[in-house]
Amino acid sequence: MDELEELYQEIVLEHNRKPRNFRKMDDPTCTSHGFNPFCGDTITLYMTLNDDVVTDVSFEAAGCAISKASASLMTQAIKGQTVDEAQETFGKFHDLVTNGTNGNVDDESLGDLVVLAGVRSFPTRIKCATLSWHALRGALEGEETVSTE
Ligand code: ZN
Repeated sequence: MDELEELYQEIVLEHNRKPRNFRKMDDPTCTSHGFNPFCGDTITLYMTLNDDVVTDVSFEAAGCAISKASASLMTQAIKGQTVDEAQETFGKFHDLVTNGTNGNVDDESLGDLVVLAGVRSFPTRIKCATLSWHALRGALEGEETVSTE
């Protein structure tokens, strides 16, 4: 493992230990439950929207370190974004972890989310990393339950 990979590893582990925005929300605008049958990861995502802006987002989850860290990093990334921006961030993140653009990802705008780029080498882990994002899209599009399958 090179130094950079080690650093990324540490950020993932730290977010798994102390996930940000890990709480139930009392009165969310929208919510969605996500399930990844391959790994057994589950998530409930809560969002408060105000004039199309994500003013608050939180989650409760059970599962592997990647799925929890990814959800934690996602909430940090999209809080304050508009719905369109959040969808755009999802697209970029999806490209990042699936290598959809052959590595040509605008990763500066992804911030700490780039730490999850390593999952692209592990196809089953991609589902762990994208679960919270599917829940995000589900919440925005009125789907109460989403699955990575
Ligand atoms: Zn998982």
